[in-house]
Amino acid sequence: MPSSQHSNFTEFMEGVEKRNPGQTEFIQAVREVSQDIFDYIEDKPEYHEAQIMRRIAEPDRVVSFRVCWEDDDHNIRVERGWRVQNNNAIGPYKGGIRFHSSVTESVLKFLAFEQTFKNSLTGLPLGGGKGGSNFNPRGKSDSEIMRFCQSFMTELYRHIGPDIDVPAGDIGVGGREIGYMFGQYKRITGRWEGVLTGKAVEYGGSEMRPEATGYGAIYFLRCMLAHQDNDIEGKTAVISGAGNVATHAAEMMTQLGGKVLTLSDSDGFVHDPDGIDQEKIDWVKRLKNERGGRISEYADEFSNATFHEGERPWNVECDVALPCATENELNEDEAKALVDNGCIAVVEGANMPTTLDGIKVFKDADILYAPGKAANAGGVAVSGLEMSQNAERISWNKEKLGDMLTELMQDIHSKCAEHGDVGDGKVDYVKGANIAGFKKVADAMLAFGVV
Ligand code: GLU
Repeated sequence: MPSSQHSNFTEFMEGVEKRNPGQTEFIQAVREVSQDIFDYIEDKPEYHEAQIMRRIAEPDRVVSFRVCWEDDDHNIRVERGWRVQNNNAIGPYKGGIRFHSSVTESVLKFLAFEQTFKNSLTGLPLGGGKGGSNFNPRGKSDSEIMRFCQSFMTELYRHIGPDIDVPAGDIGVGGREIGYMFGQYKRITGRWEGVLTGKAVEYGGSEMRPEATGYGAIYFLRCMLAHQDNDIEGKTAVISGAGNVATHAAEMMTQLGGKVLTLSDSDGFVHDPDGIDQEKIDWVKRLKNERGGRISEYADEFSNATFHEGERPWNVECDVALPCATENELNEDEAKALVDNGCIAVVEGANMPTTLDGIKVFKDADILYAPGKAANAGGVAVSGLEMSQNAERISWNKEKLGDMLTELMQDIHSKCAEHGDVGDGKVDYVKGANIAGFKKVADAMLAFGVV
């Protein structure tokens, strides 16, 4: 970075830190994107003069509300809910809802900021937002989940709409929760409209939406490897997580001839040297979706598999690593372990799973590294296609959507390769994704003037 840009960037980050005290995740996400952007806009004064980066890093609004609900023992419980509407320059706010005890305003602001760039990269008209609650769904009965979702939507409904803001799922919010929230929105407003995505196909959901994030990440890996005349066949993969993203990434990895060695949850990871094949993946899906079980049970079910309590899987030798659980789940030491063990590619199914120090390790080692905003964009892309289907009142079949997803991921890869080209056929995917994502949003904002 030239010195004038460096001081611009330093000053900008000081301002971000001052205005967002203690919001470490948000500051981390802004830093990761902005260092590339300040380099890119060095000779583009129009972006500086219009303060574009300063504007994108200030959410349009953050709505916070009380969510009051009654548990099965008739205790009154109070949680906090949020919707962060980061930027709607190129389309209605779009992004998931997360229910997890770790949710804070900082976490949702980082996710909404990232989502703005990710959604821009998809090429679809989608702005960036995110929402959620610190409500912990673990161990809650079905009726408790329903009452919480209804209460959450009773506040949220006034802030969303098919042309305003279209939420979807994320950690702790799947098809069941979307159903309860959609039902409540419809009950309050009296309108059936495409206000949420990730719906079941019976009431306006899209085929391929559950598979899209995990499959898309593997399609992106395939593009990265193909760019280096390599492929997935015979590669071993270490995957973290055991939810929707991880299980579908495992599924597509296996279908394309790879071998998946691990899955994990917050208690630890399972290592299966025989490979986690389709039958075992289906077992994990049932374990998590139907029984709410823990991944440790996998080691009791399948011989040769071992459970590693309290550990993450990054020390297991592999060709590719797919962090598909949550933010900051892969640190500097773990990144070094992956590189030392010969890992050639890291593809993020989760949002910001690698720490800034960890990313530096991958960059210095010159291995393939795909940030979440590019690699996991398949999920929100199919959400965008769900919105199109709802608006047209039609449903496309699985085959068509599968083809569209493959093409979308190829397009995202091409955009990264174009803007992240660092010579010798090499691509800086972080830089490519940041610049390509930024450009579309920034140019739209320039067109609007000072708003
Ligand atoms: N929560 C997902 C993400 O992080 C999907 C969002 C959506 O479909 O709107 O991109």
